[in-house]
Amino acid sequence: MSSTDLQDTPTTNPSQKDGPIIWSNTLFLSLSPIITLFLLPTYVYFQGHHWALTVTAVLLWFFAGLGITVGYHRLFAHRSYEAHPIWKFLALVAGASALQNSALVWSASHRRHHKHTDHGEDPYDATRGFWWSHMRWIFHANERAEDFSNVPDLKADPLVMWQQKYYWAIAFIVDILIPLGLGYLIGRPFGMLLFAGLARIVFTHQATFCINSLCHIIGTQPWSSKNTSKDSWICALITFGEGYHNFHHTFPADYRNGLKWYHFDPAKWLIWGGNKLGLTTNLKRTEAPVRWKKRLERQMDKYKEAIVQTIPEANSEWNARVESACLRVEETLNIWSDKLREYHRAVKQGEVTESLLLSVKESRRAWKHSWRAFMDLRKTMPIPA
Ligand SMILES: [Zn+2]
Ligand SMILES: [Zn+2]
Repeated sequence: MSSTDLQDTPTTNPSQKDGPIIWSNTLFLSLSPIITLFLLPTYVYFQGHHWALTVTAVLLWFFAGLGITVGYHRLFAHRSYEAHPIWKFLALVAGASALQNSALVWSASHRRHHKHTDHGEDPYDATRGFWWSHMRWIFHANERAEDFSNVPDLKADPLVMWQQKYYWAIAFIVDILIPLGLGYLIGRPFGMLLFAGLARIVFTHQATFCINSLCHIIGTQPWSSKNTSKDSWICALITFGEGYHNFHHTFPADYRNGLKWYHFDPAKWLIWGGNKLGLTTNLKRTEAPVRWKKRLERQMDKYKEAIVQTIPEANSEWNARVESACLRVEETLNIWSDKLREYHRAVKQGEVTESLLLSVKESRRAWKHSWRAFMDLRKTMPIPA
């Protein structure tokens, strides 16, 4: 997959009509939360509770949820790292247990979401409102659902195709047979099916659906305002770390969604841990100068908007000041980026020298200085920027 496949391309297709209703999806997704809300308290009221029910449900929820974020999303849809076949196999089984279609179908839709974010061909276009992007999009047939032209890499992966073929069988084993079997062990087959099967699937569904709905509504846009994606730690808490969605849409190939080590992103921690065990490799990170270039563009947009709106009489003077500070940041960023490239080359060849390390540090310091000067314009500008 080329990186351009994941860029936001504004292609609006106003003539696109929603396909006919798929009743199986509509009924299951609409009724399963209601049935769960009714059956769970009723079961506990009449049969009492057993600790193994909740523990198994939570463990299987982690399994399924991480299968989606670590597997379907960051490994298969974005190829943000590579994985050992055992890791892939587990991710595919876990992903199937979340009952969100096969990795192939899921990834094809998700790549379309990134390529056409907020436009006609985005399957879960957030501009159509909360409920559409949350789950209504699944109620309708999509003529492109079986279009796998954007996932040739996955079609060539025998493990992915194995899951595609046996998706329902895997889901049946993990979602029904395993809960039933564990339930028999404690004399509560129905209770376990209810807790670790149905309720856990409903919970996993709603958490994943929030990535397409809430993560495009709640939060801030520190990286880009090109689309509706937002960064929100609250969303991160309910989506296994996918809440830093503005960062993710800006740098979709990065294996992290939460950039800082303390950002709640269990998927990132698991992939990193897998790397230490030799199960995941080639973890892709966006280099700091590339990230700061986006921050620079974002701040420039804010400055320009503020200048035009609030000080039109001093428009050209302030534009010139902002642009010259921006140019200086760009220059220092480019030098820093070159130095880092030189450093990485030297690491590969085992030729890192003291002077090279020093020049990398120097170039970073120069960038920081220019960035501060650029940001300080907010204080002197006679408007809130
Ligand atoms: Zn999104
Ligand atoms: Zn994504």
